[in-house]
Amino acid sequence: MIVIGGFLGAGKTTLVNHLIRSLPHKLGIIVNEFGQAGVDGSLIERLEQDVQELTAGCLCCTGRDDLVRALVGIAMREQKPDAVLVELSGVADPAPVLTTLLDRAVRAAFRVTTLVAVVDARHILSTLREHPEAARQLAYANLVVINKTDLADPVLLGHAEEVLRGVNPLGQVLRVEQGQIDAGALLARDDFDPRALGSAPASVHTPGLRTFTLRAGRPLDPYLWQCFMTEYILARPAEVLRVKGFLDLYSYPQRVLFQAVRDLFTADAWEGGDGTSELVFIGKGLDRAEYEAAFLACLIPDAADLLPDEEAGA
Ligand SMILES: [Zn+2]
Repeated sequence: MIVIGGFLGAGKTTLVNHLIRSLPHKLGIIVNEFGQAGVDGSLIERLEQDVQELTAGCLCCTGRDDLVRALVGIAMREQKPDAVLVELSGVADPAPVLTTLLDRAVRAAFRVTTLVAVVDARHILSTLREHPEAARQLAYANLVVINKTDLADPVLLGHAEEVLRGVNPLGQVLRVEQGQIDAGALLARDDFDPRALGSAPASVHTPGLRTFTLRAGRPLDPYLWQCFMTEYILARPAEVLRVKGFLDLYSYPQRVLFQAVRDLFTADAWEGGDGTSELVFIGKGLDRAEYEAAFLACLIPDAADLLPDEEAGA
């Protein structure tokens, strides 16, 4: 069993998708999400794989019974997977989760072979400074994957590696782009040492951390959405840690998969589109009501509201 941790937006799902695409093996995949909507679950490329989503909260605080239940389900299958991947939420402290995974009952059927910490090359320093979860994710890993190195300044990257070495002097460190690690080598590893956990203290979290989901039942006005994005997401990198979801922008033929990590974002065309949008926010001290009001102000007017004007023109 490979456990994949790492802070919000580090690229865990990209790495999992890379593993699914590169490995010929049958994988059992468990995805834990801190936000409510199962966005990560829909971003995992399912192919023939078996994907279970645990969305009750971060696994370090809640839902560990669900994790055990999911594993028991996998263990009982007639066709057992060759390997199990557990993707932890971006704010999960891996120590309590591993305590569960190293429990005798779980160990009878599964062995944790590797604990991966995925880090975003551009944000390691600020993330470590501001979020105690991030240090935990790094500290216990036997493999640290520095991701998005193509987007990071080389000098900063060298410094970041020094700092993370201070937190984790023993783990192997790999530098990769877009989660492209050697999948076969990862699967073959078996060097996670449970003793590394020692007497890990209770889980820690960033104060004021919260999540909410904004939903819209009508397409968004593209210009108003741009304004919302600039003002409420990009201009607040210290508060808005992660945003992801699907947008239906008026007059766009496809839905948009929107993802932001601090002040960097991507927007990609995605299949489907039914006029609805769903956006998960994870941040510090965000005022949900303020966000909801601003987001709903981006909707195109309701068709029913337009009717009288059309009649007047006729
Ligand atoms: Zn937690």
